[in-house]
Amino acid sequence: AKALGRERHEVFNIAMHTRAVALLHLETDLRQAVNRQEFRLHYQPIVSLSTGQITGFEALVRWQHPERGLVSPGEFIPVAEETGLIVPIGWWVLQEACRQMRQWQGKFLGNSPLTISVNLSSKQFTQPNLALAVHQILQDTGLDAGSLRLEITESAVMENAESAISTLLQLKKLGVQLYIDDFGTGYSSLSYLHRFPIDTLKIDRSFVSRMSGDSENLEIVSTIVTLAHNLGLDVIAEGVETSEQLAQLRALKCEYGQGYFFSRPLDVKAIEVLMARECQW
Ligand code: C2E
Ligand code: CA
Ligand code: CA
Ligand code: CA
Repeated sequence: AKALGRERHEVFNIAMHTRAVALLHLETDLRQAVNRQEFRLHYQPIVSLSTGQITGFEALVRWQHPERGLVSPGEFIPVAEETGLIVPIGWWVLQEACRQMRQWQGKFLGNSPLTISVNLSSKQFTQPNLALAVHQILQDTGLDAGSLRLEITESAVMENAESAISTLLQLKKLGVQLYIDDFGTGYSSLSYLHRFPIDTLKIDRSFVSRMSGDSENLEIVSTIVTLAHNLGLDVIAEGVETSEQLAQLRALKCEYGQGYFFSRPLDVKAIEVLMARECQW
């Protein structure tokens, strides 16, 4: 038993070592990627459930790795957060998303201008010059502040609620709308929610995906929608994958949906093809 224990111990060490080396490689690669501008944006439509039309997109970053191909954010965002590289990456994402949306607004004229949602990591959210930098990027790209939405997770705002409120207020002053991302997954303090100057809750995919055939999860989604509406907030349901989920969300008067049922995140060209088809759900 002792020998087995030692063996296991060594296997564990080797695994840890391998992981550490892999992380180090990733960090080095990621640093180069920032300099070499290897990041790309994909865009996922957000659909108004009342009109069935696309009202905007969420920008989602990918890494065009020279050997590994397209790397998903789940693989590198955590390392980017740990190393602080998320800050320069995040500025690039914001600048590029605003530039692209400004261009699309000239191309696709609808009832109201298309909107662009950009994710802010907690490291970025606590940068001292955040509102000024956002203002500068809007100026540089010529995008109207009213077309930009910033997505911040519950945990990022709850980390330091008082300073978060002040940052959110500065962003609101610019005319930007603020979304709470992945709502329901963090340790949310419902008692705090009304103090945050936010516009919209994004219900996390985990609740939406378990909605069908499970009355308890349907109740949770229904409760979140009611709570949001009582606070004067809109709701976006993430991860809509079936027509049944869409019908349930419509019945709950949820304002917006996003998910594979409408479209996966797509590159610029594919988004332009999609927009030319004038889809309606
Ligand atoms: P998120 O902000 O919650 O983004 C939604 C994620 O859910 C995206 O994954 C999207 O592809 C996926 N998704 C959308 N609809 C469906 C669906 O119907 N079914 C399923 N199974 N998945 C769906 P993605 O692009 O891999 O991004 C993962 C996470 O990485 C994002 O989660 C976000 O937290 C982070 N992320 C992505 N881009 C950025 C960025 O530019 N900055 C920062 N800080 N984080 C980012
Ligand atoms: Ca998001
Ligand atoms: Ca989300
Ligand atoms: Ca999510």
